[in-house]
Amino acid sequence: MDCMSTNEKVAFETAVGASIGGVPALMGCKGVGFNVALDPMMVANLTDVGAGLVILLGDDPGAWASQNDQDTRPIAWGAELPMLEPATPSEGIEMTQYAFQLSQDMQMPVIVRITKSFGAMKEVVNLPDIPITSRVTPHLFERHAMRWISLPKNAVQRHRRLHGRIDAISSNYETSSFNKVTGVGAYGIIAAGMIFTKLTDVLADVDLSEVSILKLGTIWPLPAKTITDFLQSVEQVLILEENEPFLETLIKSMAYDAGLRTPVHGKHDQLVYREGELFRWQIAEALPKFWPGYSPAHRFSPEEEQKAMPSEAGLPENCPYTPVFQILNELSESSGLSPVYVVDPGCAIKINTPPFEILDIKYSMGSSIGIASGLVLAGVTDPVIAVVGDSDFFHLGVNALFNVAHQGSNLLVIILENSTTALSGFQPSPNLGGSESGDVTASLSIEQIVQACPVTFAELIDPWDTTASRDILKAALTGSGVRVVISRSPCPYIESGFCPGYKSDESDTIEILSR
Ligand code: SF4
Repeated sequence: MDCMSTNEKVAFETAVGASIGGVPALMGCKGVGFNVALDPMMVANLTDVGAGLVILLGDDPGAWASQNDQDTRPIAWGAELPMLEPATPSEGIEMTQYAFQLSQDMQMPVIVRITKSFGAMKEVVNLPDIPITSRVTPHLFERHAMRWISLPKNAVQRHRRLHGRIDAISSNYETSSFNKVTGVGAYGIIAAGMIFTKLTDVLADVDLSEVSILKLGTIWPLPAKTITDFLQSVEQVLILEENEPFLETLIKSMAYDAGLRTPVHGKHDQLVYREGELFRWQIAEALPKFWPGYSPAHRFSPEEEQKAMPSEAGLPENCPYTPVFQILNELSESSGLSPVYVVDPGCAIKINTPPFEILDIKYSMGSSIGIASGLVLAGVTDPVIAVVGDSDFFHLGVNALFNVAHQGSNLLVIILENSTTALSGFQPSPNLGGSESGDVTASLSIEQIVQACPVTFAELIDPWDTTASRDILKAALTGSGVRVVISRSPCPYIESGFCPGYKSDESDTIEILSR
């Protein structure tokens, strides 16, 4: 069974419940969603997990479709959860199966991390014969005293148990086939996951007699003996990784503990770029600084590896958001107001582009109402408008609305109900009912939720009825207290799944060059 949740915390908690209930569960999220789910993760690392729980984590180095250039590896390390990173799709399948087994054996969530460039890889794979069941068997809950309970009285003991589990996993990783040494040269290179694949592409047809390569697939906990043996076998080491010097820092610490003096190069000595995606051309640029004998067999250019960034095109004219901002602009101009626009992620951030160019603040999903209320508390006297999409509203915006409605504030909340989650692939919104899997689910009424809140003003508009909308938006803009306007009109591109305001992602795929 699959289910799309309103946010990643709920998704993770659903997966925890399924696993406790006897069904192996997988929760998928990107790096920023991992942050949202971190709270229950920091408990799930202390309890058991039942049937098995895997987190498929999609990081986005380079921020191709994210609000940050986050490296989630150090966060997962802080959560003390085992992490694996495949180099190819076929290894990804093998690793995910292994992750479920490991999770079941060690009774803890296991992370399989991939990145944007991994997701764009193509490979013909053999799918394993995994029995898929769409129905679960009804059964009574199996009680186990304290197994799923974390309290002050057992947290430290459980933390100690967690460290024991991590030590056992680290020992197992010493013999893992996901880690492999090739070559016997004096120049050692360590790379994990997709970066190993990129390195393989860069080194295709190159004379490798001077290098040794340690490919890592188990990226936390690290196999200490495998790594220190490798450090001892070479004269110096280059660590290739994306974003933070995560492996480099841990490996230097291991080398110190083992009394090794092998020079370790990477981010700290600026041989490798630290921010954004690590491209093949950057790897090719770093290699000769470390290995003088490197002679490239292929040239890689920045243009070749550039991906499409989210489109900078504005809101289409037939977009239901367009009349809302046109009216707000006209009202602001005629009344001499200069509203502060705090906008959640989604289509509405296109007001950053012409003809509007009015976006002031944009953080993460569900953040706009909270930030807007902070501006008011800080004494900002301009009208403050929080703009929330329907998916943002269900994700976390609703909590912030409860907060401002309960505490009182002086801001306008505009909820743009386009009945889809356009930016991430036109998934259905909870206000419509229906789900990605086609199951029938109940619909949620944003209107009824707002009506349940003690706000001073709550109105629904059809943005294409501009006369009525103007009157309502004028009253909302110039009123006081917490005012909420729901603009309801479906996105015209739900059926086609393609809006001219967004570029096609078709070109954003690459072949595995060396296979
Ligand atoms: S996807 Fe729909 S709601 Fe989003 S910008 Fe395009 S038309 Fe507007």
